[in-house]
Amino acid sequence: MQYKVLGKTGLRVSSMAFGALQFARIDRAEAIKLVHSAYEQGINLIDTAHTYPRSEEILGEALKGIREKIYIISKSISKNKKEFLSDLNTSLKQLGTDYIDIFLFHSVSKNEEFDLLENEGTIDALIKEKTKGKVRFIGFSCHNPEVIKRFYELNDDFSTLMVPLNFMTDEYAQPSLIEKFEKFNIGLLAMKPFGGGRLSDIELCFKFLRKYPKFIPVAGMQNLKELEESIKYLNQSDLPDGNDEEKINKISMELGTRFCRQCGYCMPCPNGIVITDINFIKVYYKQMPMDKFYNMDLEEKVKTAKACSECGKCSQRCPFNLDVPFIIKENVEFYENLSI
Ligand code: SF4
Ligand code: SF4
Repeated sequence: MQYKVLGKTGLRVSSMAFGALQFARIDRAEAIKLVHSAYEQGINLIDTAHTYPRSEEILGEALKGIREKIYIISKSISKNKKEFLSDLNTSLKQLGTDYIDIFLFHSVSKNEEFDLLENEGTIDALIKEKTKGKVRFIGFSCHNPEVIKRFYELNDDFSTLMVPLNFMTDEYAQPSLIEKFEKFNIGLLAMKPFGGGRLSDIELCFKFLRKYPKFIPVAGMQNLKELEESIKYLNQSDLPDGNDEEKINKISMELGTRFCRQCGYCMPCPNGIVITDINFIKVYYKQMPMDKFYNMDLEEKVKTAKACSECGKCSQRCPFNLDVPFIIKENVEFYENLSI
């Protein structure tokens, strides 16, 4: 396993993080075995969140005896100070630890959400927890390149950033942004390296990621086979060649008008459709445990989505020129077929 220094955190982390999002879908003993196997193969960075069902709790058990050798990333999606701090304490309790190495403001993808974090005093509150030692490093996860710019207005307490990066989503890897990341020595984490399960050629995904060596991919895994496969391709060194670029172009053509990044630029919809959730129904179905999936108010959201007037306002706002009403329709149909 190769190791890299994660920006100004100074942490020497494995060149791939273990994503523990999908623990609720697998047997507890298998999940623990998977964590131990990842650790034995040199992975020392694990990503979780208290909203990932059973993830922190299983990790708490799996990391007994090796906690000090692993760097844990966790996060909270809450913007309100009280709820955010409560989430942090829940994470500490579930993980059975008195500190979390990296704690993120999760999914800060709109300027209003950033404003909320500032105005509610949530950012200051987390900095305070950092001085108390409950968290060692602080960062953000974000799906919107515009909001990232505000990250630089913040002070030295912020050291990590988690953004989507795969060959369909490389908006965060623009040279101008990379230059800034480097200038501020930000530790970079790449979420969705396999497009949330939508990109099945894992070897190609890793080849693409090698073009951006500053980013540590956070790879979600459900079994030992996936772990072995990821480590195998992680350890290769070749960059995409002409054939690979051709494959990428072909996939981009096929998925190009349907590959939603969940950035939310297209919202709000005048008819109240939660486009970011509707467009991700297939991904949620693939990644989430069934009880959580059926607990996302999707029934209601799908009902609203069926009233899409195809006015096209969302498509006009989408920076990726996606045919949003078409994606909505496709996901609504998928959901309705599940319910039959
Ligand atoms: S449809 Fe476009 S703007 Fe809306 S969330 Fe998806 S990628 Fe972003
Ligand atoms: S096309 Fe449909 S989803 Fe998009 S803004 Fe219009 S009503 Fe909303």
